[in-house]
Amino acid sequence: MKISEKAKRIPASMTLEITAKVNELKSLGKKIVGFTAGEPDSNTPKYIIDSCKEALDNGVTKYTAVAGTIELRKAICKKFKKDNNLTYAPEQIVVCNGAKSALYHALYAICDEGDEVILIAPFWFTYKEQVKMCGAVPVIVNTVKENEYKITPSQLEQVITPKTKAIIINSPCNPTGVVYTKSELEELVKVIEKHEIAVISDEIYEKLIYDGLKHVSIASLSDYMYENTIVINGVSKSYSMTGWRIGYLACNKELARVITKLQSQTTSNACSFAQYASVTALEGGEEIIESMRQEFDERRNLIMNLISSELGLKFVKPQGAFYIYVSIKNYIDKQIDGKVIKNSLDFANYLVDYGVAVIPGLPFYKDGYIRMSYAISKEDIIEGIKRLKEFLSKIK
Ligand code: PLP
Repeated sequence: MKISEKAKRIPASMTLEITAKVNELKSLGKKIVGFTAGEPDSNTPKYIIDSCKEALDNGVTKYTAVAGTIELRKAICKKFKKDNNLTYAPEQIVVCNGAKSALYHALYAICDEGDEVILIAPFWFTYKEQVKMCGAVPVIVNTVKENEYKITPSQLEQVITPKTKAIIINSPCNPTGVVYTKSELEELVKVIEKHEIAVISDEIYEKLIYDGLKHVSIASLSDYMYENTIVINGVSKSYSMTGWRIGYLACNKELARVITKLQSQTTSNACSFAQYASVTALEGGEEIIESMRQEFDERRNLIMNLISSELGLKFVKPQGAFYIYVSIKNYIDKQIDGKVIKNSLDFANYLVDYGVAVIPGLPFYKDGYIRMSYAISKEDIIEGIKRLKEFLSKIK
């Protein structure tokens, strides 16, 4: 059977080779310390699991409304009011199969062929592929460490064209962990409003935020932003529910209707009993979520200290999510075990031989870096840094 050209255009993951190597070494019994996790390492809290069991026992096993159960959409509205001071009605909410699916539906609903969508590099690689899958054109803005990998208003102004449809803003950010402050967002809003573009605001790491910072949703900053922002969020990261596939979006009513129609022809409703348990997740367990956040905060401090003191590597302090984006620029074009390190892919690849897995920066469209996740135990962080130190000491 002939494969379609559009399917062929979807690239394979750049880290396939590294993943294969890690798996092979693991199968040979070698312990690899993996700083690669994109999800919390703890199980979903028990109160949520119990709620799911109750749902199954009570026959919550059928189709639900395409946009999600009314109970869940009401719980999401409450969450928006409480956490973000945003007033949405249930008709403005669409529950999707994870935030990833919400993002795809959002892009599909607003992009025509040839429309441009601005991405702030480094960014979560899915954005670029989904933009292209929707027939739109990704416009990549490169950021600098001096500005904490954030886009400046003048950078934004420069890339906007008559074809610009939207910008995707991800705060807290994967892979850098940086968080936009209210005043930084307000400056961007001036440019966004002037050019009347839309925003897709990916707030999936909202609850994992440190140093006393408060997450601000750009949708809450003006009437224009409320009407023209699609907020993407979900229970995956905050409630350790990545496998449950419950994400959601909030936007204006007209767009929510269109996205619901779209979803009715793609996935239909998200899993019924996962939706039921998500109501329980959103309505309780504040202390459990807070203790998860504190644990991540401790690990963040540990990894930052060790990277500075033991490895002497540079990074911009992450203030959200569970990633740290570390510069390895000084090691590019150097050699290890007779092999030249040409880029971060090589760095990550050769590092596996020393028992450590990291995600190279290349797939995030900013090379010379590695992304290290601290969603692993403190013991593993310490052991992994020790191995990294040995690796670095061998580079000439
Ligand atoms: N947005 C960002 C920035 C992510 O890093 C991820 C997952 O890694 C998602 C969205 C997807 O979340 P979900 O698992 O709910 O689809």
